[in-house]
Amino acid sequence: MPEGPEIHRAASTLRKALEGQIITNVECPYQTIRNQEHRFLGKEVISVKARSKAMLIHIGDDVLYSHNQLYGRWTVRKTTSKERKTNRSLRIKLQTESHVACLYSATDIELLEPWEIEQHPYIARLGPDVADQELQLQPVLEQVQNPKFGGRQLCHLLLDQSFLAGVGNYLRSEILFNAGLNPHRRLKSLTTAEQSQLAESALATTQLAYAQKGVTVDKDLYDLLREQGLSRGQARHYVFTRDGLSCHQCQRLITHTRLSGRRLDYCEHCQV
Ligand SMILES: [Zn+2]
Repeated sequence: MPEGPEIHRAASTLRKALEGQIITNVECPYQTIRNQEHRFLGKEVISVKARSKAMLIHIGDDVLYSHNQLYGRWTVRKTTSKERKTNRSLRIKLQTESHVACLYSATDIELLEPWEIEQHPYIARLGPDVADQELQLQPVLEQVQNPKFGGRQLCHLLLDQSFLAGVGNYLRSEILFNAGLNPHRRLKSLTTAEQSQLAESALATTQLAYAQKGVTVDKDLYDLLREQGLSRGQARHYVFTRDGLSCHQCQRLITHTRLSGRRLDYCEHCQV
């Protein structure tokens, strides 16, 4: 399942293709937006933004809201290139003079007025979005210091989008490793220094994953591991999916656990 960095990268691709352009052709076969072609056709694409796992495309007077859930996917191609065959169900096709953007398989699609965005039930409950390129450290630190979350274990808290938006499963393991924190710690047990470590790691790890297309280890280490013959999947993380292998930092074995049916990997020695 795509996490914040992947959704923000998809938004960046859509933005480059659509923003400032006029919609010249549109198809809206999906039930929640059926017969709404007139709201897009001939209108300018004002902005494309990701908010955690939701995509918001402001066109004319409306905002197209979509949440990909498990299966949804946006594709972008030039109008001159051929459409790829797919078994996925088309939800909306937006065409400009130069590009075609298609959303497939998503089930959560709505048209909103711009003022409705912040009140949308999904958007309204989101915490600061750590995959947002413009997010600063302060709002993240405020969440980490918020007593409302104090009793929660870090392993559960990090997947709660009302705490920090944009964090999914691989980021949870990697953020905790970079912060040097054991996943079973409760937020209120953190010292002031550890609070800073967690906030800094949440922001830096997610932003690095965005910049490096899902790779969370630093570039020098990644390049070295690839030179040694490791695949991208084997080299991309410090701990996630590396259970039974040795920690890059202390050489002890990475520990594996499952929480709420989702994997979490960590180093018992480096994460205290
Ligand atoms: Zn270690």
